[in-house]
Amino acid sequence: MRRLAVLAIAAIALFVMMPPGARQLPAPAGELTPGVRGVFHIHTNRSDGTGSIEDVVRAAAAAGLKFVIVTDHGDATRAPDLPDYRAGVLYIDAVEISTRNGHIIALGSSKAPYPLGGEGRDVIADIHRLGGLAIAAHPGSAKPELQWTDWSAPLDGLEWLNADSEWRDERPWTLARALLTYPFRPPQALALLLDRPEPVIRRWDELARQRRIVGLAAADAHARVGVRSLGEPYDSAGSLHFPSYATSFREFSITLSNARLTGDANVDARAVIEAIRDGALYSTIDALAGPAALSVSATGGALRVDAQAPADATITLFRDGAPVATGQGERLEHDAAAAPGAYRVEITLPGSPGTPPVPWIMSNPIYVGQGPERSEPPSRTSAPGTFTSLYNGGPVRGWTIEKNPQSDARMDVIGALPGSQLLLRFAISGTPADSPYAAFAMPAGAAVAMQERLVFTARADRPMRLSVQLRASSGGEGERWQRTVYLDRSPRTIDLLFSDFRPTGTTTSALPVLSKVDAILFVVDTTNTRIGSNGQIQIDDIRYAR
Ligand SMILES: [Zn+2]
Ligand SMILES: [Zn+2]
Repeated sequence: MRRLAVLAIAAIALFVMMPPGARQLPAPAGELTPGVRGVFHIHTNRSDGTGSIEDVVRAAAAAGLKFVIVTDHGDATRAPDLPDYRAGVLYIDAVEISTRNGHIIALGSSKAPYPLGGEGRDVIADIHRLGGLAIAAHPGSAKPELQWTDWSAPLDGLEWLNADSEWRDERPWTLARALLTYPFRPPQALALLLDRPEPVIRRWDELARQRRIVGLAAADAHARVGVRSLGEPYDSAGSLHFPSYATSFREFSITLSNARLTGDANVDARAVIEAIRDGALYSTIDALAGPAALSVSATGGALRVDAQAPADATITLFRDGAPVATGQGERLEHDAAAAPGAYRVEITLPGSPGTPPVPWIMSNPIYVGQGPERSEPPSRTSAPGTFTSLYNGGPVRGWTIEKNPQSDARMDVIGALPGSQLLLRFAISGTPADSPYAAFAMPAGAAVAMQERLVFTARADRPMRLSVQLRASSGGEGERWQRTVYLDRSPRTIDLLFSDFRPTGTTTSALPVLSKVDAILFVVDTTNTRIGSNGQIQIDDIRYAR
């Protein structure tokens, strides 16, 4: 009798805790089209996920997805797999790159000629050079080392929602509720962990005012949770296959509103990537209700929102991050003619999880009036100024070579047209633990204290990244600030503002203290150079400018 009572109480408790099932909506009709639905940010057993690509596409097919974007960790030196239809699902291979400023997803870029890494802004420049999009992964993670930290970098997009970030900030009670109800309603139980991630959305709105930046909901699906530190997907001690790909893929997704798939994997992958580049997509929490559909259009200043939504849904229209209009149900019209800006739509359902509740549908910004151009870093042409020459042909004075014992470095003056220039040769070897490097150190001279820029011409025998460093060696190792530059076979003039240099290692000041700088170093290290590789750099006409 007692046992029965306990069971009854447990059953009632479970019933109370159980999240409601997904609300079933009719298929979108009329003006609204279903769009092309897929999932972004998935890990397989190529990095720290548990399943194969086959497991991923099978789970995606079962969840009714049309495409998957797989983003295993890497440095982009592996040639991405060609796009392919597998189990009827378009498989697109991308890569998640670790940088000093957080993780970036490179989507649609070709194989990198050297490992991508180091500062976020440099990795983004490399991704752009390789034809890809750079999207900040889990920018608002509760784990500081996983947060995105350089918001001035020219990102193409960010993850406004990331499932891995979401569970990290949950209260224990919500986590327990999700775990207990997971066996019964898996996608809905996972969705209990979602919130409206305020700081990330605020940041997104702020950036969208200035330039185009796409927001995506990212599964960050590993199909794996570590056992030792509960929930840590990177824990190697042991893992549960939880949540499964199948469940993650039913929790939320992104929909490309205008894309059309042809069945040709190459053509379709390009269409998917271009739709993401254009921000022609919205995110939906499918565990709450579906199938969802959204259309946001602006004709002149007349904004119109159409949605496949239940009558109790609330449509909120935001302009530059502030709500300007709300409506109930399927449609909202708003006259935006007098107020140009970046407009965005969120649709919420009553009883949605989270405080504040996670939006059920999230659009991308559409611009009324003059929209900002897609941002490119302002290109700086060598402004006329006062130059102080440091090297311009002829023998070198006071330069030294620094390297780990196993690496090799040589410096020669070679004939050039006209005059002569410096040839720096390096061969990087050793073990990763040695942090191999080769550095060519030039005396900075007392003049450095009054300067603004370092200018030089350079080329390399292959694509590479060279780290230019300012060193203040007031005793011991000293402090260093760096700016890395891309070099290849075409000679180019490099113009570096000292105020753009960033600390490498610990420094007492974020900006270089020029009065203390006594050496300028040209460094090749393993951040962007593989151990075992060698190469050469020609450099000339090194000067300060102000
Ligand atoms: Zn990551
Ligand atoms: Zn990831």
